[in-house]
Amino acid sequence: MSVLKLIQKPIAYLLVGGLSCLVTLHRLEARTEARTELPASLVLTSVYEGIRDIHGQRATPELYAGGRSLRSSCGVIRSSAYCPLDHVIFIPQRDINIAYQHGDAALAYIIAHEYAHAMQTAFRFQPRSTPVSELQADCLAGVYMGLIPNLTFDRSDINEIVSFAHRIGDYAWNSRHHHGTPRQRRRAVVSGMQASFSGKNGLKACL
Ligand SMILES: [Zn+2]
Repeated sequence: MSVLKLIQKPIAYLLVGGLSCLVTLHRLEARTEARTELPASLVLTSVYEGIRDIHGQRATPELYAGGRSLRSSCGVIRSSAYCPLDHVIFIPQRDINIAYQHGDAALAYIIAHEYAHAMQTAFRFQPRSTPVSELQADCLAGVYMGLIPNLTFDRSDINEIVSFAHRIGDYAWNSRHHHGTPRQRRRAVVSGMQASFSGKNGLKACL
């Protein structure tokens, strides 16, 4: 991935699929030196700032990353999760390490996925069924990655995202933790990215 620097403040509200979102019209400063793999710290801040730029502060949860666990009102969180009671996202070091077995874009996908859960909660459109909710979060993660103004994803990044989506799919249909099969997860995140790349209302593609 390569990173670009945001230099203007959010200035416009736009209605997207009936949801009021703060949308930023901005110019981007000259691209920073292109790198094939960004360090985790830069991915974390860039994805966080990029999505915050799309939504504005009001829906932006706190992001905690690194370490083994986070004490929250949802209990002790040990894997990547969004806790709606505290409005926080936690990404443990273990998940960062697993993501980097695929590449920097896989970490961007994890952050965007958890952020999508925060948006499902904030705008009250979270499906009740776990796999439906998780696949919607995958799709929205794809939309975010396609829309984030300060990051560009190349072909190898897309491969990283697809291979990671495949890895985190499961076949535990009878489990309440079932998140979708590898194929479903791949398709969900790719369809979200495609929708935003093609200029469609990406959010609508996921609802
Ligand atoms: Zn999830």
